[in-house]
Amino acid sequence: MTAYLVGAGPGDAGLMTARSLELIARADVILYDRLIPDGALAGARADAELIDVGKVGGGDQVPQDATNGLLLRHAKAGREVVRLKGGDPFVFGRGGEEAQLLRAAGLDFEVVPGVTAGVAAPAYAGIPVTQRGVSAAVAFVTGHEDPAKPDTLLDWPALAAFPGTLVFYMGVRSLDRIASQLVAGGRPDSQPVAVVQRGTFADQRTVSGTLADIAGRAAAAGVKAPAITVVGDVAALHEELDWFAAGPLAGRTVAVTRARAQASPLAARLRALGARVVEAPAIRIEPLEAMLPDLSGYDLLCVTSPNGARRLLECCRDARDLRGPAIAAIGPGTADALRAGGIEPDVVPPRAVAEALVETLADRPLSRVLIARAEQARDVLPDALRARGAEVEILALYRTVAEPLEDEARAAALSADYVTFTSASAVRFFVEAAGRPEGPRLVSIGPITSDALREHGLEPHVEAAEHTPDGLIAALLAAAAR
Ligand code: SAH
Repeated sequence: MTAYLVGAGPGDAGLMTARSLELIARADVILYDRLIPDGALAGARADAELIDVGKVGGGDQVPQDATNGLLLRHAKAGREVVRLKGGDPFVFGRGGEEAQLLRAAGLDFEVVPGVTAGVAAPAYAGIPVTQRGVSAAVAFVTGHEDPAKPDTLLDWPALAAFPGTLVFYMGVRSLDRIASQLVAGGRPDSQPVAVVQRGTFADQRTVSGTLADIAGRAAAAGVKAPAITVVGDVAALHEELDWFAAGPLAGRTVAVTRARAQASPLAARLRALGARVVEAPAIRIEPLEAMLPDLSGYDLLCVTSPNGARRLLECCRDARDLRGPAIAAIGPGTADALRAGGIEPDVVPPRAVAEALVETLADRPLSRVLIARAEQARDVLPDALRARGAEVEILALYRTVAEPLEDEARAAALSADYVTFTSASAVRFFVEAAGRPEGPRLVSIGPITSDALREHGLEPHVEAAEHTPDGLIAALLAAAAR
């Protein structure tokens, strides 16, 4: 068995190597840092053990000793261990130390290089770290070292004299001292500098200036880690070669309150638009034991949510179990969930609310109807169909239950720019778990969810015209553009 020291690249998941994806898909255990691309672990086995040994600049981190301990323990137990790091494992990644440790313990390892932030972040800002006629050398430097400390490993006069581009990792907080050391060592204070924050992520941004003013400009712009600082004439090429278009939600934080199992596609789409996403799932879907009756005696089967559709499909041996009745989906999202199981619904109202479904069914003769849905749900549909003389039965396939919110997620959601709600139950459980979000703008998927907000004394900022996650994103984009 082998341990793998794997680079995950700087942030854009598209920059992960083929080898890294292959190993992630195979691993028994993945020890990962916090600075890895969103969704980097999506391909991991469902039964793989995923351990966060996250290291955020200055924040809490699992001590290196503890990480080393985990690495050795799992590797010795003969498990396939992937140690997944941001960027490249051997560039300021402590991968070298971990390799020494494995070697000393007599364990095999493989190193999978990654795209390092020091090259990728500048590249995404239109800055080539070398350029013919401009810079013939590049040095990667840790900005972590305090230039004021006498025991610093860095030779500042030598760095100042270095004939080429300097790329600093981790230097945001010491930008002013870095700049003054370089000027003291003889670099002109007019030399171009660019700071690239969250390079290659959809919310990447670049602040440029010179050695004289970069610290002030970066502070004024509120630049935070992770950021790469490029010092040298190539930094000026940013103005000419900048190509990366930040997404329309860049700089905004959006909280997603829906159940964790469903949050990822919505979160991924929001991230691709540049948003920082806070996952704050206050609800969880709990499947209920359900026996699908023989459907041949019914003339209509109504499915009233995508979760209902998925659970219904789980309860079937195959599509033949659904033969007999016409099938109605409450809206496009539910219709898509049915189609994913090869079922084309006969009836889909234009608006995903029970009232619209009742209207759409107005001309259809109905004597016996089965409604597949959540345990607790509005009774608009069954009541309306019963009022028309139909015999209506409810098949409860799942219930939504409260999911405890971690303090960090709760605080982040309450200070987000937007909080999104995709169901009335998400509203109820979120407010129970986190209190009323007073600061953020509230984005609602549709009228029922908006009513639930109003019941809690909250007014939605926007409501989606189409009551699907795509509709919600469209509404959010329109609101953000205003
Ligand atoms: N092994 C990593 C570097 C780890 S050190 C690599 O090869 O990229 C952590 C530092 O890397 C951060 O403080 C920041 O300076 C830099 N960094 C990592 N990801 C970054 C990103 N997406 N954009 C800008 N800087 C990043």
